[in-house]
Parts: sequence; C-alpha cells; structure tokens
Amino acid sequence: MSEASGHPTKRLTNFPHTTSSTILPSHTPGLYIHVPFCSRVCPYCDFAVQTGGPEKQFAYVDSLVQEIRSWGAEVRGQGSVLGVLALETDQSAPAWSCVEPFDSVYLGGGTPSSLTLDALETVFAELSGAFQLAADRTVTLEANPEDVTKVNLAAWRDLGINRLSLGVQSFDDDALCLLGRKHTSRDAISAVRAALAVAFDVVSLDLIYSVPGQSADSWLSTLEQAVGLEPHHISCYELTVHEATPFFSARKHGQLVEVDEDTKADLFFATHRFLAEAGYFAYEVSNFAREPANRSRHNQKYWDHSPYLGFGPSAHSFDGERVRWWNKRRLDDWADGLDEGLLPIADTELLTCEQLVLEEVALKLRTTSGLDFEGIERRFGVDLASLNIEVIKDLRESGLVEADAAAKRLVPTLEGLAVADTLAASLEITSG
Ligand code: SF4
Repeated sequence: MSEASGHPTKRLTNFPHTTSSTILPSHTPGLYIHVPFCSRVCPYCDFAVQTGGPEKQFAYVDSLVQEIRSWGAEVRGQGSVLGVLALETDQSAPAWSCVEPFDSVYLGGGTPSSLTLDALETVFAELSGAFQLAADRTVTLEANPEDVTKVNLAAWRDLGINRLSLGVQSFDDDALCLLGRKHTSRDAISAVRAALAVAFDVVSLDLIYSVPGQSADSWLSTLEQAVGLEPHHISCYELTVHEATPFFSARKHGQLVEVDEDTKADLFFATHRFLAEAGYFAYEVSNFAREPANRSRHNQKYWDHSPYLGFGPSAHSFDGERVRWWNKRRLDDWADGLDEGLLPIADTELLTCEQLVLEEVALKLRTTSGLDFEGIERRFGVDLASLNIEVIKDLRESGLVEADAAAKRLVPTLEGLAVADTLAASLEITSG
C-alpha cells in the first residue's frame, strides 16, 4: 500500500481531523472495463495496450470473466478482498452493496470495438449477472472508425450500448498519418454518419489538437467538419508527448518538433470559441456537449469522487470515500493473478483528507460548474472560501474566475480554464 503523494505547492498540516465515516460517499457507482488491445499501437499512446489476435482476446475475456465474478461476490458481501483492503488501509470495508445500482458501464482501452461480438456478449452477460445495473444506465463503448460497420453498430445497440465514443482524432489525413492512425478522414466521416443513423443516445467524437506540423486552419477545418456532422458530444484533447513513447524519443532526437506553448494556448481558445458558436457548450476543459444530457456520466464520477470499480489490466477503482486501488498493468501479470484465484491488484492508496481536497479543487476547477465551497465544507470540514479571501479577490480581478457575492462557488472563466492547474495551485487549503 502507498499513500498518495502530496501536492508540492501545499502545506498539509493543521487540517481538520476528518475520519472516513464523516466523509460522505457522493454518488452512484460506475463500472469500467479496460480492453488492452489495439490493431496497432499509436506512437503517442501511453495506455496499457498491445496488439493481439483472437487467441489473446479469448484468454483475456476468460480472465475478465473471473475478475467480474470475483468482484460480484465482493459487492454481494460474499468475498474477502474488500476486507483485505480494509485491513491494509486500516479502514472499514467499503459498503458497495449499499450504493448499487451501478448507473454507468464504460468499455475503454485500448480499442473495445476490436472485441468480437461474442466476446462483448459474454462481457455484458457477466456484468448483468454479477452486479445490479440501473435501468437508466449509460453504457459506453469506445470505438475506432475502422470497426464501425452496419452489422457491428446494430449488434452493439442490441447489447445495450447507448453511448458510442468514436476515436476520430482528426479529419486531416496528414495529421492522422502522423498520429499513426489506421483510418482516413473519409473513413471517419462514414463511421460518424453510420453511427448517427443508429439510435444511440449519444455519439461522441474524440479529436486531438496541437499535432506537430498541423496548421491552425487545418485544425479549425477539422472542427468545422466535426460540427457539420452534428454529433451529440465532442472531446478535444491537446496532444501530450508522454515518456517512453515513440513520440518522446523522436522529440529527443529532433525528429518531432512539438507545438509551442503560445500556439497551444491559441488553439485552446480557438477551439472553445468555435465550438461555443456552433452550439456546443464546454462543461470541462476538454469536453463539449450539445445538451446537458449528452455529458459524460462516466467522467463525472472521476470528477465527483464517486465510487467506481475497474476491471482489466491497469484499471483503477475507488471506494467513493478514501481508498483507491489499481490493477497490474501488463496483460500477463494481470491474468496470472486471476488464474491463481487472486484479484490482480497492483497497489492501493489511502487518500488523506488533504489529498482528497486537493484533488477535488484541481478537478472541479477544470469544469465550468466550478468549485462548490459549501459542498467541500460539508464533506471535508474545511472552509476554503474563508481561507482564500485575498486569493479569490486577486483571481477575480485578473479575470480568471467568477465568484458569487456570497463566495459559495468559484467558477473559472475561459481564461481560467486555460490555466486550470495554476488556478488550483494558487488556493490555500489549510490554515497552517
Ligand atoms: S487506438 Fe487509442 S488506445 Fe489504441 S494505441 Fe492508439 S491511442 Fe492508444
């Protein structure tokens, strides 16, 4: 077990003493399945993924079934793993049975759409058998355009998938080529049109900006094509060059020149302004929806400290109070534990109240609903508004936040969202 590391800019002393039992569990829980296969590994990707043919996929699904069944027993109070976690972290066991039903199921990866229909059918049957699922649940599948066929779309819908997240990334073929994607912009357009013709509640497009060599005009043209297709939801992520990826080593050897910080900032503002004018409201730094109902329920759980259970290599889980744990990252290591009748947990961490508040501040200041001071005080017993009177005044005067007269909520402006991490770091969370 390890404790989460503290934020380097904060003092973590003199914090009100709050025990696990006084931290209120927040919202309904979700389920996450990590599918570790992709048809090729993109040069910027740092997820736990690999290529894998049918045999590896069969073995993965067998192990996944074991993991789902084991957690089903835990949730029904018939297993022992939560008890073990509780002992390790000196906490009372999380009461999963109290917070069912699960109202979100998310298949991410990796490329979940690369699983065969039989494999997906098995996974959904196991989830329904192991857990109580809410009637109005959101069921999301991440899909790559090359897997979008009429047959697959109809079958996915029949399996109960009601939200499709399409990894389009760009409508610029040069950018797609540099990103190492298999599909062309034409494939992506066909996939989006086909998906929208099927009755999914939400079709969402993932796009990437700040791609080396891509002009601002080309990015705006990608956005124009995206909104022209009228999806319900769009996510726009700035390209990050992660360590130990081919992009990282290309940059080190001068073969890849990253977009400079000023241009990144310009693209961020251009993206938000363009999508706002096109009728997509931002509800988080990278996420835009046409209607409130189109927002991602799954991501909201991460931002709200809601409980979630994760399955598959590298998947993370959180008990909704203070305990977080995550699975072994390598497919073989993850599967080995399950074959031996063990849950493949790599490590756990017991979050301190200070760490929970720091996370809450950092995550909420990335959203357009902002930071709810009263909610923080109710949940953690710390009055951030009183601790930060001068800081809030400065942030307001510099146009980075809006705060209501009673200072109950701190809402970042667009300029504030652009520097959300700095904004969060400027708030004092302790009186020490
Ligand atoms: S398709 Fe997505 S998950 Fe798979 S390698 Fe590419 S970026 Fe990573």
